[in-house]
Amino acid sequence: MKAAFFYGPNKIKIKNINIDNTSNDSLTLKVLSCSVCSYDVRTYRNGSFKVKPPIVLGHEICAETTKEFKGKNFNMKSHERVSIYPVIPCLHCWHCNQKKYNLCSNLKEIGSTVNGGFAEYISIPRTLFEIGGVVPVLDNVTNEEASLIEPLACCINGINQIKSIDFDSIVIMGDGPIGLMQLMLLKRNFPSIQVMVVGKINHRLEMARKLGADKVYDVNDNSNFEPVSNLFMELNGRQSPNLIFVSNNNASSLAAACKLANKNGKIIIFSGLKNPKPESHNIDESPTIDANFIHYNQISVMGSFSSTPMDLKMAMELVNSGEIRIKDLITDTFELFKLEAALMNSESFLGLKSIINKF
Ligand SMILES: [Zn+2]
Ligand SMILES: [Zn+2]
Repeated sequence: MKAAFFYGPNKIKIKNINIDNTSNDSLTLKVLSCSVCSYDVRTYRNGSFKVKPPIVLGHEICAETTKEFKGKNFNMKSHERVSIYPVIPCLHCWHCNQKKYNLCSNLKEIGSTVNGGFAEYISIPRTLFEIGGVVPVLDNVTNEEASLIEPLACCINGINQIKSIDFDSIVIMGDGPIGLMQLMLLKRNFPSIQVMVVGKINHRLEMARKLGADKVYDVNDNSNFEPVSNLFMELNGRQSPNLIFVSNNNASSLAAACKLANKNGKIIIFSGLKNPKPESHNIDESPTIDANFIHYNQISVMGSFSSTPMDLKMAMELVNSGEIRIKDLITDTFELFKLEAALMNSESFLGLKSIINKF
């Protein structure tokens, strides 16, 4: 089979390798589509502390079973379309006992620490089937949409964390696919709360408007976030939002979120940062947050990482019912041998989601 191996920054090679479909502890699935995540782009450019090359990247995967596979809690038929939960948990740690597999102390990640979906076939361990991490694709969901179930599930995990907190105004920093998925979920779950999207790319902000953003702000010109407060005042009658999603990988957005959050504000850090340089002395580049600022303004800073199999199931239902129109985010499809072009397409913000769907 053909697989795109990442060998280190800026080095991807398509190789032909043999597949082993004889193990009883895993199943080989045929990949139908795999979407490019900004994590893939960051890793392609700079490597990642998690990744030891050579490895096949890609963790937003729709695939098809190649034969029957049965076991504890599951019974898969042959040729069944599925979306894959990319976290392989240990099932022994405290977090696994709580079914918070994304927080597993010994987790392996598909497309990061084990081979992922930028390949013709992928091997999925039995564990993932047992925890409900291989989710059947529902009838109204296309292969391409099914590869976006994973990032949508991550957004659901983020939204789940704010259900118990008090807020009445939201800013999403980031107009990429994640920011836009969060926008759709927030407008669905909290229709009366106004949401503003801050971004840099015109066509993406246009899409944000189309998807229901009450206000968008283009920060492109001079990274000046001050007008955001004024716009917020117009929108909401208050100077600053009390819930801010940092949904892009720029440290400067985190710095801006801190400036923007007023008393009792909550900040959710949703993405790994592109360039977190602890040694940086430039405050706008440094992800350091001032402890006094947090204390005297009663700020809460939260993280949100990955998802659970339950979130994937929920995401699948929302896309199947048409409640979340994920289709609008799919702008480009590529063949596997064009993976580098797909990564660059995503890097240059030309479209929204680039998907590999021919192998
Ligand atoms: Zn991702
Ligand atoms: Zn664990």
